[in-house]
Amino acid sequence: MVGIGYDIHRLARGHRLKLGGIEIPSDRGAVAHSDGDVVLHALCDALLGAAALGDIGEWFPDTDPQWKGADSATFVEAIIAALQARHLSVAHIDSTIVLQQPKIAPYKQAMRRRIAELCQVPLSAVSIKATTNEQLDSLGNGEAVAAWVVCLLKPASAGNE
Ligand code: MG
Repeated sequence: MVGIGYDIHRLARGHRLKLGGIEIPSDRGAVAHSDGDVVLHALCDALLGAAALGDIGEWFPDTDPQWKGADSATFVEAIIAALQARHLSVAHIDSTIVLQQPKIAPYKQAMRRRIAELCQVPLSAVSIKATTNEQLDSLGNGEAVAAWVVCLLKPASAGNE
């Protein structure tokens, strides 16, 4: 089963920038109800989509005070637990982050490690790619950060959970 996820958040001064569970030093961060981690939010939607379990807004509504300032890693962990309960595990995750600045290349390996840990898969099952938006539109103007994530789920086999 395959799933796709997309997320975008506005960037503003005075906010933290978290991507893939990693805090990125930046003069601007994501404006959001939770920690605004577009990579983990898109990952949640990809995981949910692959199992046809709805979307992140249904699971963790941004109108619910319970999720204000929430660490998005907790969203991923809850969804992975729901997949495990359905005897599903992650086979592969691929992602593309769109951000004009700062350069996130130095943090890609840390993001892979964190996502692999959260999804309980080997590092080789997690791909992080990054691109700019060539200074076009809101993403290219530094007004926003976005991420696309695709994931493949497989039936959890004995000894593979
Ligand atoms: Mg989001």
